[in-house]
Parts: sequence; structure tokens; C-alpha cells
Amino acid sequence: MKYKVDDIVTLKKGHPCGENLWKIVRTGLDIKLECQGCNRVVWLSRVDFEKRIRRIKNKDGKFISIIHYDPEEE
Ligand SMILES: [Zn+2]
Repeated sequence: MKYKVDDIVTLKKGHPCGENLWKIVRTGLDIKLECQGCNRVVWLSRVDFEKRIRRIKNKDGKFISIIHYDPEEE
């Protein structure tokens, strides 16, 4: 699967605290994300998550569009 625990992602909308960096802390039918600004945790359904995710940090530490992200290729 495309996403894994400890991946850092950005979403369409940031957290109300002003940060838009999220760490994936759990995957499955629901995705658990931790805001990297305030450490609050939110749950999103996988469908919601797939709709909202924008960018993901690759192994080089660069944020790339999720459309172009393929962990198998890296
Ligand atoms: Zn926050």
C-alpha cells in the first residue's frame, strides 16, 4: 500500500492551529494523523484521507505531489 506509518504528509486544509504537516500514526480502514504543530490526533476514513492528501515527504526529505508518489519506484 502507498502510505505507511511515520510518513509525513500535507493535506488540502491545514489544522486550525496553523500547521499543515501531519504524521501518519496508524493505517487501516481509518487513518490516524498527528498534527506536527500541536500534536493533536485526528482520524480520517481512508476515503476522506485519499481525498484530502496533497503531498508526501519522500526518502530524500522532499515533499512531492501524491499523484507522482510511488514508494515502489524509490
Ligand atoms: Zn495542530
